[in-house]
Amino acid sequence: MGNSRAVVTGGSGFLGSHLCERLLDDGYEVVCVDNFCTGTPANVGHLMERPGFRLIRMDVTDYIHIVGPVDLVLHFASPASPIDYLQLPIETLKVGSIGTLHAVGLAKEKSARFVLASTSEAYGDPKVHPQPETYWGHVNPVGPRGVYDEAKRFGEALTMAYRRTAGVNTGIVRIFNTFGPRMRPFDGRAIPTFIRQALAGEPITVAGDGSQTRSVCFVDDLVEGIVRFAHTDHSGPVNIGNPHEISVLALAELIRDLCDSRSQIQFVERPQDDPSVRQPDITLARDLLGWGPKVEMVDGLRRTIDWFASHPELTAAEPARVQSPAS
Ligand code: NAD
Repeated sequence: MGNSRAVVTGGSGFLGSHLCERLLDDGYEVVCVDNFCTGTPANVGHLMERPGFRLIRMDVTDYIHIVGPVDLVLHFASPASPIDYLQLPIETLKVGSIGTLHAVGLAKEKSARFVLASTSEAYGDPKVHPQPETYWGHVNPVGPRGVYDEAKRFGEALTMAYRRTAGVNTGIVRIFNTFGPRMRPFDGRAIPTFIRQALAGEPITVAGDGSQTRSVCFVDDLVEGIVRFAHTDHSGPVNIGNPHEISVLALAELIRDLCDSRSQIQFVERPQDDPSVRQPDITLARDLLGWGPKVEMVDGLRRTIDWFASHPELTAAEPARVQSPAS
């Protein structure tokens, strides 16, 4: 019998590239499928020579065609940062709906386990804190962020329908804010924005008064949780994230210190529907997977800062994208 074979949609994005690498390390053959709308082949450049790795340029909203057996489909394709999905609203809705239809259809065709990358944004601006999987959320469907939140919620409903009526072994993981090497310095998310600004000595732009909180998970911990979940038959949804909560202002100050920077903090307008609090309840992940985050936030931030500092070409110039406050 050959190796297990995994298809990772969005595999050349931030999380997808780490997942591809981990699956190769675990002995999988990996087919990475991406249209590079927010990711880049450079993220998997170091994997290209590894046996068992294949990169295919494909828009999963058109179709997904993979020759040969597949044991695991991980559907990670989707713009994920607010700056991206606000610029690509229709694409985001399409990849969360039609893209998920094609990805779960591939799993059905191949009798593979299917894992949907959903998001803590499914909880919207939550009225329950911290958020357990049983909370249904508080999402504004017609606000600008609705394109992402509702696409993911639709994807979850579709995934459950395929489990219930088509017998596909599906699982939903709700991912909370994750950070690490290979995030784009200009993707508008708080951590890469703050690191880029701190390293450049520019003002660090904090939205609102910075009292809103985030709980941030280092990418290696996240990948460990996903891989463990992929190896179960559990439907989820299961939260994967780090419950360590920090205010956005404290995060900005911490990053400034870790970068040895003298940047000023600059308060800027808060984006519409920006969640005030965000913290995963990870009881289910602990019970089901024996999983919990291991990397201290400061260590994860140091590793991310080192990566940014060693890629000055990425942090130097702003690509032709509209800038908006970090969120
Ligand atoms: P990313 O933008 O770095 O990666 C997404 C990848 O999907 C990119 O490589 C992009 O080119 C690809 N893609 C988008 N549309 C596509 C399409 N139609 N066809 C093929 N490829 C397509 O984002 P990320 O942070 O790595 O997020 C990956 C997944 O995890 C997303 O589904 C996101 O919603 C989810 N997620 C991420 C976080 C986080 O903190 N990073 C939190 C919650 C959920």
